[in-house]
Amino acid sequence: MPRWRAASAAAAAFAVLVLAAEAATDGSGAGVAREGAAAPGLPVLGRTSGRAQPLARVEPPLARKRRARGTLAGLPTRLAGSPPLRSDPAGTFFAAAGHGVRRLSATRPGRKVALIFDDGPGPHTPAVLRELRRAGARATFFVLGREVARRPADVRLVRDAGMELGSHGWSHVPMSGLDAPAQRREVALAAATLQGAAGLRPRLFRPPGVSWDAGTARAVSAAGELGVLHTIETSDWRRPGRQALVRTAEGVRAGGIVAMHDAGGDRSQTVAAIRPIVRALRRRGLACVTVSELLGAPPPGASSYGFAELERRLAASPR
Ligand SMILES: [Zn+2]
Repeated sequence: MPRWRAASAAAAAFAVLVLAAEAATDGSGAGVAREGAAAPGLPVLGRTSGRAQPLARVEPPLARKRRARGTLAGLPTRLAGSPPLRSDPAGTFFAAAGHGVRRLSATRPGRKVALIFDDGPGPHTPAVLRELRRAGARATFFVLGREVARRPADVRLVRDAGMELGSHGWSHVPMSGLDAPAQRREVALAAATLQGAAGLRPRLFRPPGVSWDAGTARAVSAAGELGVLHTIETSDWRRPGRQALVRTAEGVRAGGIVAMHDAGGDRSQTVAAIRPIVRALRRRGLACVTVSELLGAPPPGASSYGFAELERRLAASPR
């Protein structure tokens, strides 16, 4: 079956999946369809068959781990295919560790940085992809479940452009203000929606507004995802001007993460800043890669850039 056909079949099923997940999160833990073939203890990586599993038959991951181990120790603190991450109190990644939280960093990031785009997909997402393509850069898109449900085709565009997709939760609510079941529901709904729309499970979670606590780390780790923070916030949502965005972003150090937005308002300054940012970083010998690549894992999703659909969409767009 062609990939796009599998994806549309999955998209047709995902509304049902989301509703079922909502019904399954009544305090008993979030229900997320998981693939069976993954190595135990590691996040599930890559594409799925696109067929939704009935959530009623899927055991809540957190409850299962509690029963099996008594604690949350042993939850994943690395990505599939990556070297183990190192403990680092100032690290830009987080995971649950026992009843607490562990901050983590890449072991050997090399001369690499990650550009990330939050809050999408939105009307500017195709233009962001176009600029990344022109710059020859990869990036990671932390998408909102509720926006994925509105614009599933744009999520497939991101995937097919060879970019990484991570989760930004379902509704952009500050996670640290939520109780544990609500946090698990945010994580599970976003993952189920992304799986339905694009046929892949997120393995990265970025808390909206960088609002997170130990409960967030537990919910994220139990779902097999790794928490992602940033080292530079460009505040592009304030629209400070293209030059200011470039100046802020080019201050990133090797191994760092630069946060921007591809949705949530007028993102034309962000779009215009992408190529100058990539050029400025390249002059310093820094390559723009996905978050997974920053951690030493293979690039996720498409093995080659599939831009034919992106070109068609941009040509048809009034912009
Ligand atoms: Zn956000």
